[in-house]
Amino acid sequence: ERAADLDDLRARAIAHLLGAPMPGVPDPGHPYILIADDLSPADTAALNPDLVLALVTARGGPTSHTAILARALALPAVVGCAGILAVPDGTLLRVDGDQGLVDTGVTDTADTGSAPASAARRRPARDVEEYSGPGQTADGHLVPLLLNAGSARDAHTPAARHAEGVGLLRTELLFLGRHQAPTLEEQRDAYSQVLQAFPGRKVVVRTLDAGADKPLPFLGLGEEPNPALGIRGLRTALVRPDVLDLQLDALALAAAASDADVWCMAPMVATPGEAAAFRERARAHGLHVIGAMVEIPAAAIRARRLLDEVDFLSIGTNDLGQYTLAADRQCGQLAELLDPWQPALLDLIAACANAGREAGKPVGVCGEAAADPLLACVLTGLGVTSLSMSAAAIAPVGARLARHTLADCERFARAALDAPDARTARADVARLAADRDPDPPESESESEPGAGAGAEPAPRPGAPDTFAAV
Ligand code: PEP
Ligand code: MG
Repeated sequence: ERAADLDDLRARAIAHLLGAPMPGVPDPGHPYILIADDLSPADTAALNPDLVLALVTARGGPTSHTAILARALALPAVVGCAGILAVPDGTLLRVDGDQGLVDTGVTDTADTGSAPASAARRRPARDVEEYSGPGQTADGHLVPLLLNAGSARDAHTPAARHAEGVGLLRTELLFLGRHQAPTLEEQRDAYSQVLQAFPGRKVVVRTLDAGADKPLPFLGLGEEPNPALGIRGLRTALVRPDVLDLQLDALALAAAASDADVWCMAPMVATPGEAAAFRERARAHGLHVIGAMVEIPAAAIRARRLLDEVDFLSIGTNDLGQYTLAADRQCGQLAELLDPWQPALLDLIAACANAGREAGKPVGVCGEAAADPLLACVLTGLGVTSLSMSAAAIAPVGARLARHTLADCERFARAALDAPDARTARADVARLAADRDPDPPESESESEPGAGAGAEPAPRPGAPDTFAAV
């Protein structure tokens, strides 16, 4: 347990002897753009967005946890940016998280009117600034826009005011970096703080999704040769059933003391049998509305049978994309395969939505796909019943949805499913949407904040030294 402290001490001693900056996230005493090889989820979660204006990492993919946490902090981020570590400290940069671009050839900040060491963020379009909910298409088809939260801070952030509830509480993020299992009281209090922010609203709490890219040392899972295919998510209950039982107890206590409408779901469910076992266990602890995440292709293929066992499904497109395309979500080089516009991923989402329609049960999306405004329209057209995303994405998604009718969204969905690849799907839908768009995306006012992922880098003639990444 103390080994990490000793490693840190060693790194500090060496930095001191070399006259180099101290290791870890630097604090130069003024706002700056942070460049890193990669960051741990704990480091990213602790970043102060007032100090760190943008984040660029050499590694990581668009659905890696660095990108997700950066989006939650509304921090412009470009991940998987090979070669960025060669940029010398002190270089003036422009970072475009929407396009996935980093310019190192910036010589002045005249176009932003800002001093080099201060933030210059594009203003959102007027309908984004004025968005006040609820989530609906231009013809009034309601699609609740919910919040993805990893902490009580996310739930109480001002940007969360338009959220119609919580669609995904990532409970493991509350306990990152912990070496001891949190106690019943600690967990109850942590969940209560989130529930308090949403009286009378739906709050979907996911049980611990530890393992693989979200290590929780106190579970003692040990080394695995292939952790993404190993003991993670619901499977950790095979090794530590006591941890799941304690969590369900704590959640039931928090739910009983709150006005929120608490739904509980399990991550990484593979079979209807697992879904049924989880339902029984959660009900035995006093929880009532029980669901399963669809993150494994087997669950999507058998979505209808899963819905025989549980009350709702929530599609985790980050993992569903990773497992469908066999592409590690941490791997920046595979960003194209991890693109949530991949038609194979959309086929599986369509299958789940159809199953939900047949069963008369809700099927939402809580992966990063829901935070892409245009893709959110496609998901609506495919028939998903709610979209859950980080707070910063709610207004851009809501404003975009309000520009199109349900029939438009269905047309977008057909075009995306017909496309041969992700790039074409995005381009075809963008073309269809532009026909009806009062505020074309080319305009300077279109801004969809968050970790840059997926948007086709626009050619920038004359822009020197531009890195295109994800
Ligand atoms: C997902 O896989 O899409 C998801 C929402 O879960 P996480 O990103 O936490 O793995
Ligand atoms: Mg997942």
